[in-house]
Amino acid sequence: MDTVKVIVAGPRGRMGKEAVRMVQETGHFELAAVLDRKYDGQRLGDLEGFDGVDVPVFTDIHQCFSEVEADVLIDLTTPETGYVHTKTAIEHNIRPVVGTTGFTDGQLEELKQLAKEKGVGCIIAPNFAIGAVLMMKFSQLAAKYMDSVEIIELHHDRKLDAPSGTAIKTAQMISEVREEKKQGHPDEKETMTGARGAEMEGMHIHSVRLPGLIAHQQVLFGADGQTLTIRHDSYNRASFMSGVKVCVETVMNVDTLIYGMENILD
Ligand code: NAP
Repeated sequence: MDTVKVIVAGPRGRMGKEAVRMVQETGHFELAAVLDRKYDGQRLGDLEGFDGVDVPVFTDIHQCFSEVEADVLIDLTTPETGYVHTKTAIEHNIRPVVGTTGFTDGQLEELKQLAKEKGVGCIIAPNFAIGAVLMMKFSQLAAKYMDSVEIIELHHDRKLDAPSGTAIKTAQMISEVREEKKQGHPDEKETMTGARGAEMEGMHIHSVRLPGLIAHQQVLFGADGQTLTIRHDSYNRASFMSGVKVCVETVMNVDTLIYGMENILD
């Protein structure tokens, strides 16, 4: 396999640090540079926690792309910056692999059009954990045969949105194969608001928020005399890196924008 030259944007962040490590540890990847908000002109190795990582730090994306030869940009920053980075990378024929979340539907559509016009591959994946993507796929398969479903998602207590994007995506994937169906007793009544969780096409979604958790979800199926539980746990940010690696490899062989890792795992 040819060496893939990679630029990481957001290298000092929690995800970015792991991405720098993953690129360094992958034989056929080469870290070409990093894009940061600070430390322009310095070497990454001079910053705390990056001993021996001898690549340049840029704050100007145009300067970075004109001075550094690269195939892929991994973006793990913020929604505003990530959008500008992704657009600029496509314009420079550099393939973006984007983990940054929070792009609007309009921005996604615009990036999709741009990637198509330029024939440049781009992967935007709101969840890089391969296990989480498999959990969604397995749940979709199970729902064909067991159509009574409840989703419980559990996250750290700093999370702002509920239910999680992964829970919503799971319910959407299940609804592609499951007829809408009201679950529970037809006359059931909540004696305390929210007791039965949120509802999507009759599926109930419950959100747990506790310190100590990272990102977890279980999908429960019930039928006469049996239940099935499909559960995924992310215990740390390293859990996302095998997915980032697959996306960097895959993006080299596509010429459009792909949204969601479930669309690249067969
Ligand atoms: P984080 O720790 O806050 O890191 C974000 C980094 O981006 C920070 O180092 C920040 O620098 C840097 N940054 C901000 N503006 C920048 C710019 N203009 N140029 C370069 N770097 C810039 O956040 P995180 O937990 O690593 O998450 C990063 C993103 O990934 C978020 O959008 C998060 O939702 C997403 N995420 C995705 C997945 C997935 O599976 N796809 C999983 C976890 C997180 P400063 O520190 O100087 O502000």
